Amino acid sequence: MPNRPTALSIHWFRRDLRLADNPPLFAAAQQGALLPLYILDDTAERPLGAASRWWLQESLKALNDELGGTLLLLRGDPLSLIPELAALSGAEQVSWQQSGEPQGMQQDQALRQRLERNGVRVEAAPDALEAQALQLRTEQGLPFRVFTPFWKALVRQLDVPEPLPQPDIESVRPDPDTIPDHWRWTLPRAPNWSQSLAEHWVTGRKGAQAQLDRFLERGADHYQEGRDLMAQKGTSSLSPYLAFGELSAAEVWHSVAAAADGPAFRRQLGWRLFNRSLLYHYPHMTRENLKPAFDAMPWQENPEALTAWQRGQTGIPLVDAGMRELWQSGWMHNRTRMVTASFLTKNLLIDWRLGEAWFWDTLVDADLAQNTANWQWVAGSGMDAAPYFRVFNPVRQGTRFDAEGAYVKRWVPELASLPAAQVHSPWDLPTLLQSAEDARTRSGYPAPLVDLPTTANRAKAVYDSHIKAQPDSA
Ligand code: FAD
Repeated sequence: MPNRPTALSIHWFRRDLRLADNPPLFAAAQQGALLPLYILDDTAERPLGAASRWWLQESLKALNDELGGTLLLLRGDPLSLIPELAALSGAEQVSWQQSGEPQGMQQDQALRQRLERNGVRVEAAPDALEAQALQLRTEQGLPFRVFTPFWKALVRQLDVPEPLPQPDIESVRPDPDTIPDHWRWTLPRAPNWSQSLAEHWVTGRKGAQAQLDRFLERGADHYQEGRDLMAQKGTSSLSPYLAFGELSAAEVWHSVAAAADGPAFRRQLGWRLFNRSLLYHYPHMTRENLKPAFDAMPWQENPEALTAWQRGQTGIPLVDAGMRELWQSGWMHNRTRMVTASFLTKNLLIDWRLGEAWFWDTLVDADLAQNTANWQWVAGSGMDAAPYFRVFNPVRQGTRFDAEGAYVKRWVPELASLPAAQVHSPWDLPTLLQSAEDARTRSGYPAPLVDLPTTANRAKAVYDSHIKAQPDSA
């Protein structure tokens, strides 16, 4: 163990991979030297998906650089590793940001008890915005089930603390020989599409700040108008940085204070908090329908259709563009997330849990609360959800929000030579009008997997016969 001039604290990084605006880290750094730690948690209810593992790996490299190469990586159960490491290193204190997820909250409580029993001090605090969202109740003392009243009540009383600066950190790393071999973890191997992910993202704090600056310069004043236009960079693309805590929600909140569309943007941060509160109150929502009436849904087993959807080979241009954007960049525009999820659960009648699992594995911003709440929202089985009979029409969504077809043409190059009017429904193009060039570039692009109007009507009929008649279907 290193020679310590002052009291030693362990800071356990979780989804707070940043040095600035990190209250427990800030407090611990004032008191002495820090031993920075990240643990790949083998006990997690939901192990990270492949794209998130790539993000984590890159983000930890960046954090380690910021800490002068002192970040200790361990693998195992935090509940046993941290008390043992505290004993081994002589640390008098352990700090961390508390989790807002049910399993993480239990872990926090058990860890605090173990450490305090061993005479080790704990410096732990939750994310300030999340804590306020989880405590919010209706006048009747119940959890909010509908977003708008939740948001109005939260905004009325929300106290968003000014972000803290990065503290001066005296970080130390234990002598590698003192760490048992079976605790060690080296950064995971990248998934095989990581090259493509790396072309789209700069991970870590520097990447987060650059992304935020870009949004403040070019997007925040026109967010309301630009956020639905899929071909434009009209949204912030901050979701992975928020998911891994390279930026805090409070930092993002304050940064848009002067932006013309700051309030509309903050409302979206509100959805993030609403979904977190849903997970807190209804922890089973990660696996079960929030509306039990949906347990009667006759979901179809259709592995071929599921594979076509995953690969962006459905023959429906907007759906394929979204799914290919996801595969190549680890992210998808919110509107196409809704369109692709609606296509899977309604036109194909495939269980939302299969779509959620694919997103979980391929999204760099995968987040248990956001992913499951949004999937249930689209499927109709969630709180404050889109009504089941609302089936997104990918052709209409495309002509409205990608009028020039630029988004589809970017991700589905087979359709690049089509005129804008045809790009969202290439099957409408009369054969006689197709040029030889069109026919050549489109060859290999599949015919539509299903007929959109027929399957939308089938979805509505299934809803009428299986869900609508039941008492909790509203
Ligand atoms: P912006 O429009 O710039 O919004 C700013 C921030 O607000 C986002 O970074 C995000 O943190 C939050 N936000 C915006 N829209 C939503 C929303 N609908 N729900 C919750 N928070 C929102 N988001 C995730 O972070 N992780 C997920 O795993 C995830 N899965 C989704 C699955 C489906 C089926 C759908 C329809 C949406 C999902 N979303 C998820 C929500 C949303 O699509 C993304 O947060 C958004 O596209 C991220 O892009 P952005 O940062 O540019 O968003």
